Amino acid sequence: MSKKKIATVWLAGCSGCHMSLLDMDERILDVAKLADIVKSPIVDGKNFPEVDVALVEGAVASDEHLREIKHIREHSKILISLGDCAVTGNVASLRNLVTKEAALARAYLEAESNEQGVIPDSPEIQKLIDRVMPLHEVVKVDYYIPGCPPSADLIFYVLSEILNDRVPNLDQGKKIKYG
Ligand code: SF4
Repeated sequence: MSKKKIATVWLAGCSGCHMSLLDMDERILDVAKLADIVKSPIVDGKNFPEVDVALVEGAVASDEHLREIKHIREHSKILISLGDCAVTGNVASLRNLVTKEAALARAYLEAESNEQGVIPDSPEIQKLIDRVMPLHEVVKVDYYIPGCPPSADLIFYVLSEILNDRVPNLDQGKKIKYG
């Protein structure tokens, strides 16, 4: 069996889901026998390559996230929504309780810690979209790994099933602690 290619991506999240990936500890060696991690926040590169599996942490909160997740979908055979922010919006979507304008004003104009009092506006800076969205509202998602963060056991189970060309058994997955 030829080795598959994996990418891991981090959108509007706190990196906790990626920490759970690392918590697979020595089982990462089992994954490495079956797949190469060709892109991740650690193995970075400008371009997103064609991959078999993309694990995406975080919700869609900016114009750049929107472009990125659509590009990832086009170049990934299987897309996994990793963690509650990707699955439901979770913490990232708390911003939806107020308007985008109110959130920006609170962060940049009213926050006691911000002395400049200017909302940054530059082509290099990502623009917030009106509403934070879970991944499936933007692109087709093949598998969901819930949890905040998801447990390393559950991540390993889903990943090892997919890398061995098996369909993860959701009933089996439910027996594994979510996070
Ligand atoms: Fe962080 Fe939890 Fe969101 Fe993962 S699901 S990015 S651990 S807040």
